[in-house]
Amino acid sequence: MDPRRVYERLLARFGPQHWWPAETRFEVIVGALLMAQTSWPRVAEAVGNLRRAGVLDPRALAAMSIGDLRALVRPAGLHRTKPRRLRAFCRHLVRAAGGDLDRFFARDPDALRRELLTLEGVGPETADSILLYASEVPTFVVDAYTVRVGRRLGWFDADRYDAVKAYFESRVPRDLGVYREFHALIVALGKDVCRPTPRCDACPLADGCAHARARGQLSYTPTKRTKERKTP
Ligand code: SF4
Repeated sequence: MDPRRVYERLLARFGPQHWWPAETRFEVIVGALLMAQTSWPRVAEAVGNLRRAGVLDPRALAAMSIGDLRALVRPAGLHRTKPRRLRAFCRHLVRAAGGDLDRFFARDPDALRRELLTLEGVGPETADSILLYASEVPTFVVDAYTVRVGRRLGWFDADRYDAVKAYFESRVPRDLGVYREFHALIVALGKDVCRPTPRCDACPLADGCAHARARGQLSYTPTKRTKERKTP
C-alpha cells in the first residue's frame, strides 16, 4: 500500500494528533532532548518543573548548575546524562545564536541537522524531531514504531535510520503539515494497534499489509474512531 494512502487511512482512523504538545518552540526542544527511554507524561512533568521554576529559557538553563537542573528534570529519568545534555544544548544555542531560536533556525536545514548531530545526546531522531516540530523543516522522523509498522507492511526490511527516512521522503511529498501528522499517526498506530503483538483485525491497513497477509488476518472492518491522543 502506498505511504500516502496509508497516511489518509490513519488520519481517517485516528484523526489529527496535535503534535507536538508544547507551548513554545523551546519547549519542543527541551521535550525532545528529555524523551529518550521514558514516557511523555514523565517528560511533561519535568518540563512543568522547569516552567514553574521560571527557567524554561535557553540562557537560564545554560547558566544553571547541574545539581539544580537535575532536581528539576529528575522525573524524566537518566539523571546523570539528561541534565548535562540539556545544558550543553542550551549553551550551544546561546553560543551559536545568542539563545535566539529564529537566528538558530535561520540557517540551511542540512547544515543545521549536521550541527545538531554533533551535540551530546542528539541522535537522528532527536535532531529530526527538533527540526520538524520546533523549526519548520519537513524532515521525516523515524522511531521504533516507524520501523515496526514499515517492516510489517512490507515496505522495507531495514532498520537503519537513514534508509527508513529516505524511504518515506522519496515517496511522500515534502509537506510540513503532512510530515508532522504522519509521524504522530504512525506512533498512534504503533501504540494502539500495531503493537509487539499486533491487533491486525482492528487495523485500517490490514488489507495492504504483508504481515497480516502472512498471518491470514484480513478481516478488518472499520470500528468507531479511537479517542484522539494529544501527547507523544
Ligand atoms: S495489519 Fe497488523 S501488522 Fe499490519 S500494520 Fe496493521 S496491526 Fe501492524
